[in-house]
Amino acid sequence: MSEKRQFRAIKGTRDILPPDSALWNWFERTAREVFETYGFGEIRLPTFEETDLFAKSIGAETDIVSKEMFTWEEGAPVTSQLQKWWISKHLGEFSKADREAVFSDQRPDLVVRRGQTTTVIEFKRRTLSQDSTDQIRRYRKIFAEHFPVGTPARLLFVFAEEPSPFVRQLAEANDVEIEVADIPGYEPRQSIALRPEATAGVARAYIEHGMHTLPGNVKLYYAGPMFRRERPQKGRYRQFYQVGAEVLGQSDAPAIDAEVLEMLLVLFRRVGLANTKLYVNSIGCKECRPKYVELLREELRKVSDKLGPDSQRRIETNPLRVLDSKLPEEQAIIEALPRISDHLCDACREHFAKLKDELKLRGVAYEENWRLVRGLDYYTRTTFEVTAAGLGSQNAVCGGGRYDGLVELLGGPPTKGIGFAIGTDRAILSIQEGANVPKLPGLAVYIAWMGAKTYPTAVAIARKLRDCGLGVELPPEEMKFKKSLGLADKLGARYALIIGEDEVASGTYTLKRLANAEQTKLNENDLLEYLESERRT
Ligand code: AMP
Repeated sequence: MSEKRQFRAIKGTRDILPPDSALWNWFERTAREVFETYGFGEIRLPTFEETDLFAKSIGAETDIVSKEMFTWEEGAPVTSQLQKWWISKHLGEFSKADREAVFSDQRPDLVVRRGQTTTVIEFKRRTLSQDSTDQIRRYRKIFAEHFPVGTPARLLFVFAEEPSPFVRQLAEANDVEIEVADIPGYEPRQSIALRPEATAGVARAYIEHGMHTLPGNVKLYYAGPMFRRERPQKGRYRQFYQVGAEVLGQSDAPAIDAEVLEMLLVLFRRVGLANTKLYVNSIGCKECRPKYVELLREELRKVSDKLGPDSQRRIETNPLRVLDSKLPEEQAIIEALPRISDHLCDACREHFAKLKDELKLRGVAYEENWRLVRGLDYYTRTTFEVTAAGLGSQNAVCGGGRYDGLVELLGGPPTKGIGFAIGTDRAILSIQEGANVPKLPGLAVYIAWMGAKTYPTAVAIARKLRDCGLGVELPPEEMKFKKSLGLADKLGARYALIIGEDEVASGTYTLKRLANAEQTKLNENDLLEYLESERRT
């Protein structure tokens, strides 16, 4: 006999049920509305991407990438799949003896001789890197050394996926032929990860779809689940939700940063998030930050013996993260460390000063926090965080900043970028803990029908009320009057519409407001009109 087992949601994940889910939907809907008034459009991204995308953009040394990603491997090695495919496709064209690897020191994936012609074949997934072009040069050199002048040879690259026009151009310029494989069920060997955040995916999509050619700045927002293998606690989950926005383009004007922050605060005000605090900082650029980081490292080494093991380790791996420390015994030491604001280059200092002027112009209240460095590698210049009330130690509801080099780092054109992510779980928690929980429209009308003859009328009226956008509950089976009204109460309906045989005969129905038991008799037209006007208030 099989054992009866109860399944439960995995630790760190949870179900969001009604009526909470209505609050979630309202929050996300409000975010969409606000973002759209600032000219943002929604991007819907995959929830998983290549692990390398996150490693490269977030940084291999960060906690997120080194410890917290949910990853798995898929597929078979591309080279062996392609080799099998190519040989089976071209088998008739050469004998076994024609196949050989002649370049023993710099072995290409396959070398085939047909009569006089030698074909040197490389198997690729879809791109060429600098390495590949170096390799082409090497092959040509070795070929020239091994074969008499005039021996016909060709270089062939077999791609598993259609390469970009750029790659085709590069191949043509280097006199390389291209063949694209069509392997049924092809799946490359790759490591895939559930996304721990969405900025990397947005940057990947920006490059993939050539969005740099779009007019003006590209403004995108997203909403959805993110995944990090963190230790679950209040406000910290393994599947959590973010709503975020990004601005990508050619400009890094501080007005862009300020408008993004203004938009955030407009949203927070609109959803009634109480006691939010905006902290801003500038962490410099690739000119001034490395110098500051080195200085910080030197100063930290001097006090290393007074720091805990985590901070000690970070002195070498990522000294900026020491500034994040919450350990009470480290606070006095950190306060005495050199501050980035004293070490910004002129351009960064000016950018930060302009940002602060812009925030004042827009009436956005902020506090400077020199220790706000953020955990992710890709940030430059502006960083910010918003905290909210009612969240205990996990009180950050939003984090973000500028990431001017990210798109280029991922192989795209030079691009500026800024964005933020709001932790929806924490935002909702904070709203629920506060005094401004919105009253969302729930069930409007419960139809208490009695007598089989009244049922067709009840069905028809339910449809009409629903067409007006009202939430209606129509009991599927006949119930005693008292029980029916009791259920209407428990379901939290605002009204009960009573339809008995007398009502059907006379064409007037009794509408009972459940909060005060007030009753009104209305014909169908008046009923629809009355309830519709109620819905709008
Ligand atoms: P980050 O992507 O780390 O900058 O986080 C942005 C925001 O997402 C934070 O301010 C939190 O509100 C939220 N967040 C990050 N990690 C978690 C998590 N494990 N559980 C719930 N919310 C999170």
